[in-house]
Amino acid sequence: MRPTYVEVDQSRVRANLQAIRAAVGPAKVMGIVKANAYGHGIIEIARLLEQQRIDMLGVAFLEEAVLLREHGIQSPILVFGGIAADQIHLFLKENLSFTASSVEKLRLIDEAAAALKVRARVHLKIDTGMERIGVHYYSAGKLLDAALQCDHCDIDGIYSHFANADAADLGHAQLQLERFLEVTEFFTQRSLPLPCRHIANSGGVLQLPDSHLDMVRPGILLYGVYPSAECARTVAVQSALSWKSRVAYFKVVQPGHPVSYGSTWQSDHPTRIVTIPAGYGDGYFRALSNRSVVIIRGKKYPVVGRVCMDQMMVNIEGGTAYNGDEVILLGETEGALISAEDIAEWAGTISYEVLTNINTRVPRVYVG
Ligand SMILES: *Cc1c(COP(=O)(O)O)cnc(C)c1O
Repeated sequence: MRPTYVEVDQSRVRANLQAIRAAVGPAKVMGIVKANAYGHGIIEIARLLEQQRIDMLGVAFLEEAVLLREHGIQSPILVFGGIAADQIHLFLKENLSFTASSVEKLRLIDEAAAALKVRARVHLKIDTGMERIGVHYYSAGKLLDAALQCDHCDIDGIYSHFANADAADLGHAQLQLERFLEVTEFFTQRSLPLPCRHIANSGGVLQLPDSHLDMVRPGILLYGVYPSAECARTVAVQSALSWKSRVAYFKVVQPGHPVSYGSTWQSDHPTRIVTIPAGYGDGYFRALSNRSVVIIRGKKYPVVGRVCMDQMMVNIEGGTAYNGDEVILLGETEGALISAEDIAEWAGTISYEVLTNINTRVPRVYVG
């Protein structure tokens, strides 16, 4: 196996799920496993969540859901994204839940289900202030009316998505929640059973207890990372992912001899430089050049010079490191910690992108 790998502590994912359940109960939990389970490995995480009797799994698009079914995952799966007409039969064949985000799509689903003599599982998508997919809250009546006309669909759920639930100012999120609840009155006014209502992402779980409703949809929180710096940390979670490598080379570099492409860094005295076999081709952002640190033998040392595609250099000054020593790119050891938030800040992005950017050529190892 490559010396550069991601280690996922499954016991932490289980503990995070337990903490979320305790905070939102009796609301159900949909575990979000899109984007390779935020870099943690979609198959293994879906298996773990299924073992924990997760109520539902959420993915971005059809292929992610089909992959889960191919690996024996039987839990209900909701596909968030828009659907192309030619994908509908696959949803039905694999017993996946549709997101119906327009009257036209809903009719296509109903017709396909009728033709195949099966029932389609549908969640209606209401746009309450994200302007992504879904019918606007102010014209949702026509989608709901159309849903009542569908004889071959089970309207299992109705949902919306927050744009700012992880912000310090929750005004917009509150407004979205009010708009959503007003739309769902449609069912109570007609004495119809309410479908499962869900709107809360990790930010909603943490900051808006009123938004938990019938089900919550945590993604990043399940993996032990908070959605933003300003978001209240009302549920205690621990980061499940570490990214590790090993020292591949040691050399002493003389002053006036710049390191790596572009010669962007040099020392004014002789210094010890080690090479790490990881780079932007693995998802370690090139923007981290001359900005990030790694941990070797419990100490933090800076990445110097440009991060290359497959390798990068670290200045250990007078420190000690031998070939084969463990290097922590993201994670913790005896008191030293590099979080996804740290890397995000150095690279000018968010922790979501740090995690999802670690690509598939980095093997995943599971512990716990
Ligand atoms: C990604 C996603 C989530 C999870 O968001 P987090 O901020 O990671 O909790 C929930 N719902 C939908 C529709 C999503 O696309």
